[in-house]
Order: sequence, then structure tokens, then C-alpha cells
Amino acid sequence: MMYDLVIIGGGPAGLTAAIYALRARLNTLVIEKLGVGGQIALSDIIENYPGFPSLSGGDLMKHFEDHARAVGMQTKFTEVLGIDQNGPYKTVRTADGPLETKAVIIATGAEPKRLGFPGEQEFLGKGISTCGTCDGPFYRNKPIAVIGGGDTAVKESIYLSRLASKVYHIHRRDRFRAEKILQERLLARENVEILWRSSVEAALGDDSGVTGIRVKNADSGEARDIKVDGIFVFIGITPSTGFVECDKDPQGFIITGADMTTSNPGIFAAGDCRDTPLRQVSTAVGDGAIAAAKAEEYISEMEGRAYPSAPK
Ligand code: FAD
Repeated sequence: MMYDLVIIGGGPAGLTAAIYALRARLNTLVIEKLGVGGQIALSDIIENYPGFPSLSGGDLMKHFEDHARAVGMQTKFTEVLGIDQNGPYKTVRTADGPLETKAVIIATGAEPKRLGFPGEQEFLGKGISTCGTCDGPFYRNKPIAVIGGGDTAVKESIYLSRLASKVYHIHRRDRFRAEKILQERLLARENVEILWRSSVEAALGDDSGVTGIRVKNADSGEARDIKVDGIFVFIGITPSTGFVECDKDPQGFIITGADMTTSNPGIFAAGDCRDTPLRQVSTAVGDGAIAAAKAEEYISEMEGRAYPSAPK
């Protein structure tokens, strides 16, 4: 079977692209390796998606999924391993076999970065986490450390401070990059201690998991061991783009035009996986809509039809 469009990734960018593509009557398949919703589905709360002043990421993405299903979204749950050119078409290689399509939208987002300190890999899943909503409840009334200075780190720290007895928030600079409103909320939390200009030297632990963290202050040069039961690392993301061949920036984010085209004709990219100045649900949504419209145009041109379709 030949699809018009295969969308890789079922997060905000992929689901928006699916809604636009299906309404354009493209025979569309969404491939997702985990669950529909993407990374925001794991977030406790989202307060900056227009129209929804405050709801959980899971609830927001349920609205997206319901909408996409209502216009006929088909999904296949498998991992995409590569994309090959097959004449004018593309072969999408998946863990469950190949699929043929005329065009592809990459909407695979990104995964949390690691800091690389001793013990980080060893205790991952045993006291070290990159998801507050997933793992925060395990640290109810226990001391924890949070690392990072961006929106996600500060937001997650606020959330975790409602569960943990104490949060040591470790940041290598002397100010946060996060939105001011988030900073104000974090600084107002009584059980949060900010360790400015500090970096993690090591996670400390034993067979039971994390028991502490060694933190070094850049000004004094002194290292200090702090007793914590959990360490949450929020220091940015790495794009999930290793399987696709096209131009990328040094971090691996796919380089696109404003029309979401990549250097590989017929392959479009949308959302967190591309080189974009802001990685949020609202920007992923806009990217997904543009990518679907441009994919439709590409397919129409490939098939030698005028675009938009001439009236009958
Ligand atoms: P993603 O949501 O990452 O979705 C990509 C999907 O592709 C995933 O489901 C993944 O499983 C799938 N995938 C990846 N590789 C493959 C493959 N090879 N084969 C098949 N499937 C694959 N944004 C906001 O606007 N407001 C917030 O308050 C906010 N809070 C956040 C809190 C946290 C903790 C995090 C982590 C992020 C937050 N964000 C927030 C950012 C937001 O989640 C992202 O900008 C948004 O999810 C990007 O959407 P996307 O569709 O590009 O990618």
C-alpha cells in the first residue's frame, strides 16, 4: 500500500499535521514508538497553551488525539529506523517492516539530555529521573535535588516542591533563563533552596539507589555532600533525528525553511526536532500545520496536478 503521507511522531506537531493532512484528504499514517501525546503528555500542568488556562499535559493531548481520531487518524505503534528513497517515493523502515509513502513529516521531538556526572547512568531509574510527573510521587516528604535553569527545570521544581520535604535546586549560573512568572513562584516556595553557581560532582548511593549528591560551588571551589533521595535532571533535550538523512545543525536538530522543508525533498520536519528558536506546544502546533500544507503541495506537484486543486 502506498500512503500519501507518513507522519513520524504522535506529539503535538505530529497530531496537528495529521488533522490538517486528513482534512486535505491525504491518505495519512501516524507512526508512534511509545504512546500518542508526546512528551507534554507527561507534564503535570500546562498554563501557556492558548484557550486552556490550566490543565494537565495528558488532558490537553487527549483533546488533540480525540480531534485527530474524529477526522480519521490511523496510527501504527512501532519505531522508525530509517527512510530510503525509492524512485520518487520514500520507504519508511520500521521495526515492523517497510512502508511506502509519497511524503514524510518528521515530528519526533527530542529526548532529555544527560549531564554525564559520575553515578548518573548507574542510578538512572534508581533515584535519578528526567520526569517529575512520572517519578515525583516516589519522593513524597523526602529531600530531592533538581538541576537546570530553563522553563522546564523551574516548572518541575515548583511541582516537586509540593511533594518533597525539601528541594535543593542546583544551577550553574547566578540567574535562571526561565520565564519570570515561573522564577517568582519558585523563589516563593519555602522548602526550596537555590544553590547558585553550583555544579554536580557526583550522585552518591548504594545498592538501594541514590542517597545523596555532591555539589561544587564555582566561587568557593568547595564541594559539599547533601543527603537526598532523588535527583531530577532537566538540562535540555537532544533531538530524535538520528534515523533521517538531511541537513542538521551541530546538535542534530533538522534544518528547515520557514515552510518546514528539509534538504531532502519530500521530507518535512515540525516541532522540537527542528532548529527553531522556541520549543513549546504552541510552536509545534504551528509547525505541524505548515508541514502538512506543504506536504500536500509537494504531493500535488509530484502528481502533476495544479495546486490548489482546480475547481471541477
Ligand atoms: P514530542 O512531544 O517530543 O513528540 C514526539 C513523539 O515522537 C514522541 O511521542 C516520541 O515517542 C515519538 N518518536 C520519537 N522518535 C520516534 C521514532 N523513531 N519512531 C516513532 N516515533 C518516534 N511546552 C509548553 O508549551 N508548555 C509547557 O508548560 C511545557 N512544559 C513541559 C514540561 C516538560 C517536563 C517537558 C519535557 C516539556 C514541556 N514542554 C512544554 C515542551 C513540549 O512538551 C514540547 O515542546 C512539545 O511536546 C513538542 O512537541 P513535538 O510534537 O515536536 O514532540
